[in-house]
Amino acid sequence: MTLATLAEVLQPALKNGYAVGGLVTLGWEDMRAYVAAAEAENVPVILQAGPSCREHTPLPILGKMFRHLAENASVPVVAHLDHGYTLEECQIALDSGFTSLMFDGSRKPLLQNIEETAAVVELAHGAGISCEGEIGFVGYSGGAQSAGTDPEEAARFARETAVDAMAISVGNVHLKQNRDGELDEARIRAIEAVTHVPLVIHGGSGVPKAQREALARNSAICKFNIGTELRMVFGEALRSAVNRDPDRFDRVQILKDTHQPITDAAREVLREISKCPT
Ligand SMILES: [Zn+2]
Repeated sequence: MTLATLAEVLQPALKNGYAVGGLVTLGWEDMRAYVAAAEAENVPVILQAGPSCREHTPLPILGKMFRHLAENASVPVVAHLDHGYTLEECQIALDSGFTSLMFDGSRKPLLQNIEETAAVVELAHGAGISCEGEIGFVGYSGGAQSAGTDPEEAARFARETAVDAMAISVGNVHLKQNRDGELDEARIRAIEAVTHVPLVIHGGSGVPKAQREALARNSAICKFNIGTELRMVFGEALRSAVNRDPDRFDRVQILKDTHQPITDAAREVLREISKCPT
């Protein structure tokens, strides 16, 4: 049984200079491969169920899948709700066995974001689990524009909500398919100077590899959310598995061919960000 809360994996990461992968899952095939990758690298992993994952599979099922994987894993596994938009959704995730809730009030005015996030933190902490909030707004490639995190607002948000982790907007963008999204290090330094809460980068796929690795070691960024780059590997592996043999129709047989490529790609990501500096 290695089910862990977000705080249980991020506090050691903050202290020892590494980051934990918040890997975006869409189904059994990728979540299973991510845990295999974390075990092979002997590092913790955060399995994340975001809005599109929940649209496909209900939260109570996802909670069972995450917990089953965690219970049989040799490394700490966090069952994390990504971008919960309402208290009700967070409550359902809690009731479904999740050990970490992200409440995203980043589109709302500051005071409302603080108030609503604090309520989710209270819910989470009352049940012995963790909560991540977002301050500033992380935009979407081809969609909504970002609003950079103001360090003073971040300090206030951390203080008044008591979140266990804080997602910040420092040049990162969701859903990027290339790595030209260099992060604003001056802004990261200004934020970590005024708060001790572990920081989270959403849109980690778009960050240049070398910068991602360096920041994992030498900043308060303790969690990189990685979705798009792994989804691209999965999509490519699935397409080639389907095309490999036109007579093959059994989907379990086809999906088996995606396991190794997605495991290898996740191992590489985790190896880069989660190794303790030696
Ligand atoms: Zn996100």
